[in-house]
Amino acid sequence: MRDEALAAVAAAGDLEALREVKVAHTGDRSPLALANREIGALPPHAKADAGKRVGQARGAVNKALAARQAELEAERDARVLVEEAVDVTLPYDRVPAGARHPITTLSERIEDVFVAMGYEVAEGPEVEAEWFNFDALNFPPDHPAREMQDTFFVQGAKGRDGAGSGVVLRTHTSPVQVRSMLERKPPIYVICPGRTYRTDELDATHTPVFSQVELLAIDEGLTMADLKGTLDHMVTALFGEGMSTRLRPNFFPFTEPSAEMDMQCYVCRGASVGNPDRPCRTCSSEGWIELGGCGMVNPRVLIACGVDPEKYSGFAFGFGIERMLMFRHNVEDMRDMVEGDVRFTRPFGMEI
Ligand SMILES: [Zn+2]
Repeated sequence: MRDEALAAVAAAGDLEALREVKVAHTGDRSPLALANREIGALPPHAKADAGKRVGQARGAVNKALAARQAELEAERDARVLVEEAVDVTLPYDRVPAGARHPITTLSERIEDVFVAMGYEVAEGPEVEAEWFNFDALNFPPDHPAREMQDTFFVQGAKGRDGAGSGVVLRTHTSPVQVRSMLERKPPIYVICPGRTYRTDELDATHTPVFSQVELLAIDEGLTMADLKGTLDHMVTALFGEGMSTRLRPNFFPFTEPSAEMDMQCYVCRGASVGNPDRPCRTCSSEGWIELGGCGMVNPRVLIACGVDPEKYSGFAFGFGIERMLMFRHNVEDMRDMVEGDVRFTRPFGMEI
């Protein structure tokens, strides 16, 4: 029985097998335990000898079990160290943190400037009735902007259904101004950010989908001076103290008078003008950067939107966010802004 038990202990390949061997050969019902129990029934002269032999056999089995146990535990520990080792040099597989698109963060930064002045953020549909996009804004029926080579028509088009009845992808966020005037009573102060569409090919300086911010103020007694002061405040808030703007006469159907607005170059602040020793790449040494268009809201637009031009006047301006992002952060290719490559977005971080 001892030899059988020792052979079983030696053959146990792992701790689980050894546990079974232990139960089978040293448990209450094991042959050795039963033999031990039988000793009491033996004649007195045989007890001592049998007790000695059974005791030695049990001692030898227990000793072998303990030794094999220690051996198998050492083997297991060595194996765990190898199997569960962690290679800290392996690349981690967690999903990397993304970043918000700089167009979004810059747009929100601009909104914040105006919300702080009491403006309300207004939004509207990107698929827009032609009337909101053109007619209400005083675009004549034959205005070239309505041509299909400039505007994406979703339904209807000039020359087929007649001007004003089509559905377009909005070419500017100005229809949101129209909707704001129709939905609210003056005074109205709204800022309209959003995505706009024109049939441009995608290249380094054009994209068929771009973002605009437009602003509209309607109140009693507003003048160009209010417009100029608002623009100056905006560029100061976005580009730093001492920044100013200038207006150059222009024409837009929806404003009268209309102007192009330039902002002072925030890099050289005009120091590069006429100074070949200090050229400025940002403004091409002109001292000014073209920002967008502005003007006093055309009375025809006010009438179309139910606002009394005898009582109220208003100003509006708009500019492209991509363009501002380009000169503010030296982005040279517009395609980087629309391709959605996170390698472009990540350096801007969560905030600009
Ligand atoms: Zn400059």
